[in-house]
Amino acid sequence: MRSENVESMSRLSELNTGEKGVIVKILGHGGFRKRIIEMGFIQGKTVEVVHRAPLQDPVEYQILGYHVSLRLKEASQIEVISVEEAEHLAQEHNPKTGNFVPTCIGCKEAGCKFRDSIQQTTQEEDALYRGAREKSKEITVALVGNPNCGKTSLFNRASGSHQRVGNYSGVTVDAVKGKMYYKGYRFTLIDLPGTYSISAYSPEEKYVRHTIIHDKPDVILNVVDSSNLERNLFLTTQLIDMNLKMVIALNMYDELEEKGDVLDYGELERLLGVPMVPTVSVKNRGIATLFDTIIDVYEENESVSGIIKHIHVNHGPVIEKSISRIREEIYKNPNATDEFTPRYVAIRILQRDKEIEKVLDNFSNKDEILRVRDGEALAIEKELHDSPENAIMDAKYGFIDGALRETYRRGERKPGKTLTEKIDNIVTGRWLGFPIFLIAMYLIFQATFTLGQYPMDWIDSGVGWLGERVGSAMSDGWFKALVVDGIITGVGGVLVFLPNILILFFFISLMEASGYMARAAFIMDRLMHLIGLHGRSFIPLMMGFGCNVPAVMATRTIENRNARMITILINPLMSCNARLPIYLLLAGVFFPKSAGLVIFCIYLGGVLLAGLMAKLFSKVLFNSDETPFVMELPPYRIPTLKSLLRDTWDKGKQYLHKIATVILIGTLIVWALSYFPSCDPDPAARLEHSWLAAIGNFISPVLAPLGFHWQESVSLLSGMAAKEIVVSTMNMLYTVDGQLIISNVLTPAIALAFMAFTLIYFPCVATIGAIKTETGSWKWALFTVCYTLVLAWIVAFIVSKSFAFL
Ligand code: GDP
Ligand code: MG
Repeated sequence: MRSENVESMSRLSELNTGEKGVIVKILGHGGFRKRIIEMGFIQGKTVEVVHRAPLQDPVEYQILGYHVSLRLKEASQIEVISVEEAEHLAQEHNPKTGNFVPTCIGCKEAGCKFRDSIQQTTQEEDALYRGAREKSKEITVALVGNPNCGKTSLFNRASGSHQRVGNYSGVTVDAVKGKMYYKGYRFTLIDLPGTYSISAYSPEEKYVRHTIIHDKPDVILNVVDSSNLERNLFLTTQLIDMNLKMVIALNMYDELEEKGDVLDYGELERLLGVPMVPTVSVKNRGIATLFDTIIDVYEENESVSGIIKHIHVNHGPVIEKSISRIREEIYKNPNATDEFTPRYVAIRILQRDKEIEKVLDNFSNKDEILRVRDGEALAIEKELHDSPENAIMDAKYGFIDGALRETYRRGERKPGKTLTEKIDNIVTGRWLGFPIFLIAMYLIFQATFTLGQYPMDWIDSGVGWLGERVGSAMSDGWFKALVVDGIITGVGGVLVFLPNILILFFFISLMEASGYMARAAFIMDRLMHLIGLHGRSFIPLMMGFGCNVPAVMATRTIENRNARMITILINPLMSCNARLPIYLLLAGVFFPKSAGLVIFCIYLGGVLLAGLMAKLFSKVLFNSDETPFVMELPPYRIPTLKSLLRDTWDKGKQYLHKIATVILIGTLIVWALSYFPSCDPDPAARLEHSWLAAIGNFISPVLAPLGFHWQESVSLLSGMAAKEIVVSTMNMLYTVDGQLIISNVLTPAIALAFMAFTLIYFPCVATIGAIKTETGSWKWALFTVCYTLVLAWIVAFIVSKSFAFL
């Protein structure tokens, strides 16, 4: 996965014999870059492939008039562009006018003191240099940091994107890219998922490390929550081990100041060897300075040269001795430093990092290295009475502790509890926590229905009015039927629910951004344990109320595979917003007085079923061994109304988009099936002899025991593409002379059974696709299809029989 802005850039390793390239940048870790540059691979110089046989390693190159050989791995870390492009860029961006002043190789300034001692450039070389220089103004920056430290807020500020911001871990499940221009540089920003470390245990950690290693961003932007330095800097120490170009954003600096704490970050950056910039990303404070610093670090400018150094996080004498022994063994390989610094490899294999152990496959003395490692691991265990994994972790925390002791002073805490603690005492308390949670949920559903009723009525009458006007203006025939019954009635019936959906989303955003969602997960943790899951599964499940697709993707934050699989499989039982219009329609018609309560019960029913299924799956399919984990409770934050509204509107836009695409097409197909082949002017007769009725009658026998007619069967069938289509289909099938006649046809019990069926059966094509992607196999996707269909039938049957008295 390369960022798009480098499409014209290729790696030196990709060139064939006889081809030439102009060097733009050298990627990789500091030690590697230094060595390659010393060999003469300098920005703006032309390299020619002298000889490259297929599969042959190393490759012979010509540069600065002499021949050198590089391994493919090394060459793959050198980015080049074609000579033509370099000339073109030089022409386009900074055409030199006037007299040409020769500059010396390897430096950007004309007339520096080395001019006479080092070979000078010709006019042509100078053009290539300027072209390469222009190209190198494309900087890829990866945002790495703990969950909830403000990465996405910072990303949004900088790139002007509208990514979702949340106050709990697990909102960003995939990398998002954004672009920005600043001071003549073109930045590609990558917002990575939040991680506490990069040890390749969870899918997040693997993803972050993979991006760092394979995409080789030019600069790592380590975002740090300044109000929680000790924990956040742990990840920093791991990044330091990798020896990459890095800048630290001391984000949430406002919170540090508010607490009255003082941080001498000038000293801390010297101690860690990484430039730091205090930022408050939500208020745009420090962002410009941050990007100035990123440019400085990238260009290796004078201003940061006093700070940047590759420090070795000191792990104490015992571990350090082991590290250097392993490192020595690694150094015996000529290709030891191609990809990682040997120190990093040594530290990681000492911690038995399986992925980094694979790097050793390229080394001839792999067995010997592992033998030394095993010996050293034993020695550490004997001396420190702890596993090397833990000992190294402790040492890193010790290092941070030391660094902070010199630079950080805690302010006087006001006596008593902080506001967050006070709120938490009640909200996550033993007695009130759960009732408060339930009441909050209930109120949200009530608000969704009652508040939403007004705009809903307006839209409804608007759609009715439009249908009448258009209907009276057109002459009878299939085209009128298509426009009035198909498009206006069908699509309008779905559009009506936009206000409800916006309201529900507003509340979900509010819970996420304020920090209450994390408390909800915390409260649910105890309950989740009962069904073989833990609190971490709660957030993806909660997100399922919005849409099951991102919710299934959000399960990536669950480290334990079994817990993850179960969470994915039960996620479709969380009633997504596409199903809400169906409940709103039926509950509104059949239970007008208690619609909010009915809908609340349906959602609750989905949750209970999910619990049951989780329990069943964890007993039968997956033996979920519980991994201990810490549920993080970020401090409460008052979200800005602007970001809440933006978030809500983003969702609303997605809904409108879906209406204009999938739902419109689905509605039209269903309409055509309902109109043809009979085309009878009498609607009832036409429907009865339509293709739709034929299909409905065909599947009806299966659903007949539930009390469903062919109309319901067809509606359910049409809902497989997107569940909103169920509503538009029902509207079409049950609207006679502009009147919804559904209450004459169904009974309340059957309406309930139908709602239960839509809650449970086949989520939608997109969700099934997401399940396939996340579980990695069609098997589980198909399994979900089957189990939800069977379960829907059983539950709907029970509901239709038990509520027959209504
Ligand atoms: P991410 O998980 O690292 O992407 O973090 P987010 O960008 O989603 O932010 C988490 C929460 O912290 C949100 O509620 C933000 O509004 C809030 N936040 C982000 N940056 C700052 C900051 O600099 N100061 C304060 N006080 N809050 C911030
Ligand atoms: Mg984020």
